[in-house]
Amino acid sequence: MAMEDFVTSLDLHTRGGVRAARTNHYLVTGSNIKELRDAVALLGPKRDGRAFGGFTAWALRWTFAARPNGRGFETTRITVAVDAIVTLPRWEMTRSAEGATRTEWNRYVLALADHEAGHVAVATAAADDVAALLHDLQAESPLSLHRKGDRLARERVAIARSEEDAYDVRTRHGLSQGARLGLAQASRLEPESSRCA
Ligand SMILES: [Zn+2]
Repeated sequence: MAMEDFVTSLDLHTRGGVRAARTNHYLVTGSNIKELRDAVALLGPKRDGRAFGGFTAWALRWTFAARPNGRGFETTRITVAVDAIVTLPRWEMTRSAEGATRTEWNRYVLALADHEAGHVAVATAAADDVAALLHDLQAESPLSLHRKGDRLARERVAIARSEEDAYDVRTRHGLSQGARLGLAQASRLEPESSRCA
């Protein structure tokens, strides 16, 4: 396929899909850090029985067509799209909340968003790689081209899932990035580096 097609499909679909990443907010109430932390634990997204402040769910979709190139078949009309939904908390601030609580909440939500952006980055890197893998594909028949392409894409997505697991281990689900409510007030936290190897 022509390089021009490739660039266009990346532009329109990969990056376009990411731009369309949606953010879901769940509302929490509370007038101090402890109440807010309890509300996040209660209302935040759950996975495997564990509550998180934020969460990123994503899926890749890819499509391509086969065309003969004299030696067999190659891919054309490649599209790779990322569907990502980032869930974050939104605090309905109470008038009585102290300035320090507001400051800490804002710091926390930014750190959380930063952590979730790391998950989205894993997904977009996978999308770029899938587009490149599909671009280079060659096979003897349209059927084997599709089988090969789908297998390569699924393998790359599986790698991305393990990269996300490693990212969560490395950052302790964002704790090392500051995604913990009340961190600013916690006085005796050990340095993160000593706790996550
Ligand atoms: Zn995470």
